Amino acid sequence: MAANSLTRRICAFGNILVIENRLKLPKLGWVKFHKSQDITGKLVNVTVTRTSSGKYIASILCETEIDKYPQVTQNIALDLGIKSYLVTSDGEIVDNPKYYRTQKRKLRSYHKKLSPSQKGSSNRVKAKIKLARTYEQITNLRDDFLHKLSSRLIKENSIICIEDLRVANMVKNQKLALSISDASWSKFVAMLEYKALWHDRILQKVGTFYPSSQTCNHCGFINPLVKDLKLREWSYPGCSNYNLRDKNAALNVLSEGLKILKAAVGAPDAIYACGELVSPEVISARDR
Ligand SMILES: [Zn+2]
Repeated sequence: MAANSLTRRICAFGNILVIENRLKLPKLGWVKFHKSQDITGKLVNVTVTRTSSGKYIASILCETEIDKYPQVTQNIALDLGIKSYLVTSDGEIVDNPKYYRTQKRKLRSYHKKLSPSQKGSSNRVKAKIKLARTYEQITNLRDDFLHKLSSRLIKENSIICIEDLRVANMVKNQKLALSISDASWSKFVAMLEYKALWHDRILQKVGTFYPSSQTCNHCGFINPLVKDLKLREWSYPGCSNYNLRDKNAALNVLSEGLKILKAAVGAPDAIYACGELVSPEVISARDR
């Protein structure tokens, strides 16, 4: 059997064969499986793992040509948060699904059942499986959310600017640790990173030292009061601009990201910002 199949529904490598939703493995023979996505291209290898809830997962690695998204001209910046998952420089608010928090009660009850049960008892095994299954569900739901969101943002935008988050340091803040871990920002940024490479997009990171929340995007005034996380909206008497905290931060990250890019690659003839075509002069004037 040729490594690259004619029908694209059959993938083979050595004595491993995949046809539709059936997988032939050495020693084991044919097994049925649920597909998470279509399998196309040249099969490289298959790894079978067993999860703590007793499910078997076959990870099928294939070499395939990426079907690139069409070129777009829109640029965007993202302000990652906890109250909302993210706010874009366009003002779009993506709710935070907080999958772990919503399942917390369920998890707690399984943990409770687990502690008094005798080691090796069937009740203990059952409780262990239920607990593992809930953790798996949380991971799957979260991964699905992160994949859909990152793909959409990559598809719709040419340049995406984000703050270079130091998640490891932030998790040390006990009060926020659970929410931050639940948000899986690192995983989300990693997805943006590799999807940007696949689809010829640019992911530009901006240093955390940049006061994105405190700076008014309109006049550059730095308002130290915005350090207080409770302050969600603010304006400065000398300026007409009314700032929504997260959108203002995202707009600043966008200006800063484009400025870094411009310095790195030289001034392009024109850069699209906020969906409108602006010249580099306008951008530098805005940055001042
Ligand atoms: Zn201002």
